[in-house]
Amino acid sequence: MAIQILCATFFGVEGVIVNVEIDISYGLPTFNIVGLGDVAVKESKERVRAAIINSGFEFPVGRITINLAPAALKKEGSHFDLPIAIGLLVATDQISVESMEGYLFMGELSLNGHLKRIKGALPIIIEGVKHGIHKYIIPEENIEECSIVKNAEVYPLETLTQVVNYLKYKDMMPHKVNKEFKSIVNELDFSEVIGQEATKRALEVAAAGNHNILLHGAPGSGKTMLAQRIISILPELTYEESLEVTKIYSVSEGVGKTGLINTRPFRNPHHTITSIALIGGGRNPSPGEVSYAHNGVLFLDEILEFNKTCLQVLRQPLEEKEVKLSRVSGTIKYPANFMLVGALNPCPCGYFGTNVKSCKCSDYEVKKYASRLSGPILDRIDIFSSVNPISYEEINKRAYGESSEDIRFRVNKARKLQRERFKGEGISCNSQMKEKHLREYCQLNDKSNRVLELAFKKFSLSTRAYSRILKVARTIADLNEKAKIDEKDIIEALQYRKFIDESII
Ligand SMILES: [Zn+2]
Repeated sequence: MAIQILCATFFGVEGVIVNVEIDISYGLPTFNIVGLGDVAVKESKERVRAAIINSGFEFPVGRITINLAPAALKKEGSHFDLPIAIGLLVATDQISVESMEGYLFMGELSLNGHLKRIKGALPIIIEGVKHGIHKYIIPEENIEECSIVKNAEVYPLETLTQVVNYLKYKDMMPHKVNKEFKSIVNELDFSEVIGQEATKRALEVAAAGNHNILLHGAPGSGKTMLAQRIISILPELTYEESLEVTKIYSVSEGVGKTGLINTRPFRNPHHTITSIALIGGGRNPSPGEVSYAHNGVLFLDEILEFNKTCLQVLRQPLEEKEVKLSRVSGTIKYPANFMLVGALNPCPCGYFGTNVKSCKCSDYEVKKYASRLSGPILDRIDIFSSVNPISYEEINKRAYGESSEDIRFRVNKARKLQRERFKGEGISCNSQMKEKHLREYCQLNDKSNRVLELAFKKFSLSTRAYSRILKVARTIADLNEKAKIDEKDIIEALQYRKFIDESII
């Protein structure tokens, strides 16, 4: 009779339960793995054989067939090593069947039997819990990301021998670990930034309504420094959001972060990035920067230097909040709900409209430069803010600004208002409002209506600009805890539509 061991794999960022079936029959010694495994799965044979022998166990002789069910699903990764090894030990009576019932196994084996870190442990456990599986044997190195899943008992172990000993004498190794989730606040703080009150306010509005924002200003004026601190005023990551983010990092390798992510991600890719690295994909599909920025911020510094296709492919995730990659085996989805923060110089020489140096560019050059930022990106920016280098007097005063904690307090209040407003609407913040929401929640009184009308006619605004202004004005009113948008909110929102060349767009 074939032995069945529970394991799982992942597709995109979702786990899929896999049954590892082991059958040993009489015949010439062979060892086959069937069930659409990739190269890493096929090579599992050699690792498992060596690990079993080097751990002092007996490797069975006969026709060994391993089936990974469901067979139609493509499986990748090396985490099937451990369940295969355990299955072989059960099949040869070196472990009893009862001892491993109810456990899900995952882990890569080294040739001497050590358990090594695997990709995708978190989505596997999340999926397993949904299927009523509560006990997990995992490599010690995966413990950080796995220890916060509710209703899961996680047993981190280091070697195959330890796993076997644990299964035999369960009372000897109480390794159950469960941690409380705690969100960590970014260390950078707005109080460290001198001056720049206007931009700080713009960032506060952006954070409060989850609006995409573009900062423009001379080189060295502090655009990057300000952008990096936006994380510190965004609401703290919730448990569910943290799981979503950690899942993405869990299925990828080499992105500089492992373990539990409990702070909002801030991704800052260089402008030489390829569109695949930005969006995700590749032969062995993996998430891109837009997904690593999920529930956080994607900061594109020198945004005009990015490859044109890169900016174009951003359209889909900006609109749909996820990336869809079509593959033969199905469509892979990676979440990509991020706030876009862009930064650029105001003109080719960098000094247009500043008092640091005089700008060497002609009017035509300035207009042409600004117009390069057209299309997909410009259409999705709600707030534009000009960052000016601070004056000597300001530096000399050394007056520190408001702390991020104080700003975040207001942001949180505004977010709470939005959540209550949009309950049951399928959206959670002002930036996501559609036409029908605008009609319902952004009604203007006579005065505010007149101000907007004047601006609309004077600057010949587009309908798109009109709805952006309403959305941002709604956020400003929320920050001021006002039920109705008044003319001051409209005027402030209009300020945030002022583009580099002073036009209102
Ligand atoms: Zn210039």
